[in-house]
Amino acid sequence: MSTYKIGEFKHKKQPFYLPVNNEVELFESAAKKKLPVLLKGPTGCGKTRFLEYMAFQLNRPLVTVACHEDLTTSDLVGRYLLKGDQTEWVDGPLTIAVKRGAIFYLDEVVEARKDTIVVIHPLTDDRRILPLEKKGEMIEAPEEFLLVVSYNPGYQTILKDLKQSTKQRFVSLEFGFPPREKEKEIVCKESGINEPLAEKLVELAGKIRSLKNKGLEEGVSTRLIIYAAQLINQNISVPESIKVAMINPLTDDHSIQKSLEEVTVSIF
Ligand code: ADP
Repeated sequence: MSTYKIGEFKHKKQPFYLPVNNEVELFESAAKKKLPVLLKGPTGCGKTRFLEYMAFQLNRPLVTVACHEDLTTSDLVGRYLLKGDQTEWVDGPLTIAVKRGAIFYLDEVVEARKDTIVVIHPLTDDRRILPLEKKGEMIEAPEEFLLVVSYNPGYQTILKDLKQSTKQRFVSLEFGFPPREKEKEIVCKESGINEPLAEKLVELAGKIRSLKNKGLEEGVSTRLIIYAAQLINQNISVPESIKVAMINPLTDDHSIQKSLEEVTVSIF
């Protein structure tokens, strides 16, 4: 059974992150006071990149787990595994993060089962402990340990929302798509395309975003604009890059795809 080496969770180079508001200062203060942080915002708007940047700034490893409905408490804290005719305890990613004073990031926390989420509760209050029930142990989190979760309020339904008893344990930082000028700068930097082209892609994204809830469930993310720009930079034609990266991922409805292609033609 392989065990994680915590050094693997550290970035060697500072990740590029362009601050949008005062999120860097807010996060630093929260980290100093050991307050758990919730990053709220649509998919692909920079939450993960922000956290990678903050982990680098604070010189702490970052352990990330993407939540899904089959994620169990044992997947997070660890379990006994059979080794020959013996059983051996293997720490899960949360236990590793607590022991090593890392930043632990639970991505898309609403996707996880409610009974799984309960395991993080004692880490979010003054106790800052992690109970390893199956082992009959309790681990105290060191100063550097920080718990961060993300969620996309756009996807929430009455059936799938974060419980108040969980929500109210976090300082909540709201993320949205960066303002135009900043988004343009990010697209240029991440893809290498020129500014006038980046500006047009961002303008198109703005138009597509204004169609949210008018046939589109979600607006186009910064991530998708960057994908389109990267394809353009690989000499794929502009309309095709936009179609495969900024239109098709948003909808399967051919008539809406057609309308979005018309919006594209009006800009390019
Ligand atoms: P999320 O975690 O919100 O789903 P990501 O952090 O993965 O989204 O963001 C998607 C991509 O958008 C990143 O890989 C990065 O290229 C880019 N990005 C978004 N916002 C920023 C920002 N403020 N500074 C730098 N890159 C950004």
